[in-house]
Amino acid sequence: MKNTENPVVSIHYTLTNKAGEKLDSSIGAEPLSYLHGAGNIIPGLENALSDVSVGDKLTVTIEAADAYGERNEEQIQTVSKEMFQGIDNITVGMQFQADSSNGPAIVTIKKVEGDNITIDGNHPLAGEQLTFDVEVMDIRPATETEMEHGHIHGEHVHGEDCNHD
Ligand code: ZN
Repeated sequence: MKNTENPVVSIHYTLTNKAGEKLDSSIGAEPLSYLHGAGNIIPGLENALSDVSVGDKLTVTIEAADAYGERNEEQIQTVSKEMFQGIDNITVGMQFQADSSNGPAIVTIKKVEGDNITIDGNHPLAGEQLTFDVEVMDIRPATETEMEHGHIHGEHVHGEDCNHD
């Protein structure tokens, strides 16, 4: 079938940055499935997949603004080590999941100076131009519940009783 309104689209993808370094790939694992039109994936990729059919292969280059956004220097903050209670050895490059006003965010440790820890709340791929090599593996209609919830209910994700927003 074709990608019509709110279908569930499954893709295999390989993600590379501007330097041509491979950052991520679904090859060898399960394809990525998502609810089209619900903002579950980055806007540039979702737009590029608006009119595809099963078997289509495409290469999409996406500027930062349509991927994980531009870097925002205000997201870099220095906090006290006490913020990281229970973690003995904080080192540069470690990543934590933190709650932000926009939902869960990844925070990366940038600098450790005594009790002062510099954290970067930008998405690790913010400011990066990204290229996706995509193959469309499957397109199926979404169930009513999936459309209501705005995301897919894969076998391993959650069942009919899922009660999140
Ligand atoms: Zn759900």
